[in-house]
Amino acid sequence: MPVKTVLGEAQQIRIATELIEMDARLQLLQEETTLSRERLLKLYKEVKGKSPSKGMLPYSTDWYISWQPNIHSSLFMGIYQFLVKNAGVHGAQALITAYRLYLDQVQNLEGGEAVLSITRAWFLIRFFNAGMMEMVSCNECGGHFVTHTNELNANYQCGICHPPARAGKTRENAALRSGTHVGQADCASTSPA
Ligand SMILES: [Zn+2]
Repeated sequence: MPVKTVLGEAQQIRIATELIEMDARLQLLQEETTLSRERLLKLYKEVKGKSPSKGMLPYSTDWYISWQPNIHSSLFMGIYQFLVKNAGVHGAQALITAYRLYLDQVQNLEGGEAVLSITRAWFLIRFFNAGMMEMVSCNECGGHFVTHTNELNANYQCGICHPPARAGKTRENAALRSGTHVGQADCASTSPA
């Protein structure tokens, strides 16, 4: 659907600019705005000073299930679903607002690094809309986590309550290197069985 008004186009440019600033891939921009590929490429270069990346897009659902990505994806999806349900936002604006809030929250997490890219966040929403993924509650902490639909999740335990040994080791090593104790972040793994 082509943009018919100047105001309409201005809004599309604003959305595209925000998404580009968040490092969105070109396919996302093409599907979430009504701007032409040529205009988006031009805008991308103006905002970023370079052309968009041409690598493979992250199509797999499995990435969202692995330990650290699952924690980040669940955080994002919780925010997104809350916004759509309670704040009356939808479409690209819901994605942008939820991703911005996710980035704010990540600053409080260990490491403070955003593991979930805006493009992966967008794919995650699509996987939810397609019924391929859903939220499940953790039996121990009651938090909601991203999982594949139709998996046997009756006794689901999340990656925060049960981090893999490998993750604990990495964290321990990092803590040792920086001369600090693992402390609070590790207590989840010693919760009563
Ligand atoms: Zn849990």
